[in-house]
Amino acid sequence: MGNKKIEQSVDKRRTFAIISHPDAGKTTITEQLLLFGGIVREAGTVKAKKSGNFAKSDWMEIEKKRGISVTSSVMQFDYAGKRINILDTPGHQDFSEDTYRTLMAVDSAVMVIDAAKGIEPQTKKLFQICKMRGIPIFTFMNKLDRDSRDPMELISQLEDVLGIEGYPMNWPIGSGKILRGLYDRYNKRVELYRPEDENNPYLPLDEDGNLLEDNKLADDSVYQDAKESMDLITEAGNPFDEEKIKNGEQTPVFFGSALVNFGVKTFLDAYLNFAPKPGEHETENDVEVEPEDEQFTGFIFKIQANMNPKHRDRIAFVRVCSGMFERGMDVTLERNQKKLRLSNVTEFMANTRENVENAVAGDIIGLYDTGNFQIGDTIYSDKRDVKFTKLPQFTPELFMKVSAKNVMKQKSFHKGIQQLVQEGAVQLYTSYTTGDYILGAVGQLQFEVFQFRMQNEYNSEVVMEPMGSKTARWINPDQLDEKMSSSRNILVKDGHGDPLFLFENSFAERWFKEKYPDVELTSKL
Ligand code: GDP
Repeated sequence: MGNKKIEQSVDKRRTFAIISHPDAGKTTITEQLLLFGGIVREAGTVKAKKSGNFAKSDWMEIEKKRGISVTSSVMQFDYAGKRINILDTPGHQDFSEDTYRTLMAVDSAVMVIDAAKGIEPQTKKLFQICKMRGIPIFTFMNKLDRDSRDPMELISQLEDVLGIEGYPMNWPIGSGKILRGLYDRYNKRVELYRPEDENNPYLPLDEDGNLLEDNKLADDSVYQDAKESMDLITEAGNPFDEEKIKNGEQTPVFFGSALVNFGVKTFLDAYLNFAPKPGEHETENDVEVEPEDEQFTGFIFKIQANMNPKHRDRIAFVRVCSGMFERGMDVTLERNQKKLRLSNVTEFMANTRENVENAVAGDIIGLYDTGNFQIGDTIYSDKRDVKFTKLPQFTPELFMKVSAKNVMKQKSFHKGIQQLVQEGAVQLYTSYTTGDYILGAVGQLQFEVFQFRMQNEYNSEVVMEPMGSKTARWINPDQLDEKMSSSRNILVKDGHGDPLFLFENSFAERWFKEKYPDVELTSKL
């Protein structure tokens, strides 16, 4: 049952993540967006995450040095009547399954691409997760103040590399030294890069897309080229299709420069016109949960460990899916039907006092956790039992053999592994032939955190032997023959007991496919 107050609050929410390859400009654009929301960060707060090595002595140190703090994991601000939640998706060595899982908690994504480099590997990976969820994706081609690639090429790359239609909302008039501005067909105006009158950076366009006022720009060949391209695209390109945007089949593309704050506001304003408000989340038990429902529901998409080294605190990040969260409310943890009171909570709220509101669908709350929660858990208030669909598993790419340093301490070793795996910190595989434990992850940091926490929380020193990157492919158990295992692959069981091969590389996988053409191999996401 809907509730007017909740409905109004939900209508204002826009929750998204920025996906990009390291150095494309995610941090810079995030800082600009926060500024539009009136949030001035001390220079470099978002930035602090850039530093490299860290002492393994203290998890807090890892946190500090890498700047993976709770406060920068979720950023909330108000802008143009909307309440915006940006969820951080760490890159570099911080890349982990958490990064992927965060994408399960957003309603749309902003893809930032370095216009000089085009689409890079990490963007592609993150994009695929968004695509699988079918959420809208908005593209910002960044660094226009530098020489960029041919915009036509950038647009066709979206289609060729990612398989998504690009719809340019605006078009760069030059780049680098000859950057004149943006030909903005969506807003029917030219946005000047260095306007003579700073308060008036726009030149209006008429219905046919020609400059309304007599301006010397009309005779500029850089402008003429841009206009010609835009005309060509208007005639022959993909038509704007809101339905496709909604399903993540078409991405509106904006150009600009985050560093010099050019085109960012234009992007944000248009983005907010099309970005969806919080949507429904599927349940496993066929209960329909609408964001406007009175009943509070949410799921845990991320657990951040040991924020405070003196306690064993962890913070469980909850995406609110319906109802209104109130401090001290009682909820049920679906997995074990345990009743919990949510009193020790961090709300990632806009820090404007007059706007303090309770969290509704689209918002994120952080629960201090002493070990109650697991990734993917559903919590809910009241009587109706709700179980949100499980979060997907991701195909790990990096592997480590792991064992207890002290054989006398097997018990704590096993307990630690079991709990950390359950929590979703790493994935565990067992070798068919040797029984060896193998850990799988999508990023190196997951191993470092695992090792540190085993020592710190379970008093178990572990030996880790890197196995490098491998291609993990699951096999139908009915087709499995242990003889298929060879020197070029390792046959292992995953946490559910399902068999898979870890291939040395894609050649080894191809070789296998040629040898066993009837055997089906599948990857997770
Ligand atoms: P992230 O790794 O994606 O968070 O990237 P950052 O925001 O830290 O940016 C990486 C580098 O590119 C930094 O040195 C930024 O100053 C620079 N940068 C970001 N946006 C722009 C831009 O629009 N133009 C130029 N020239 N440099 C940019």
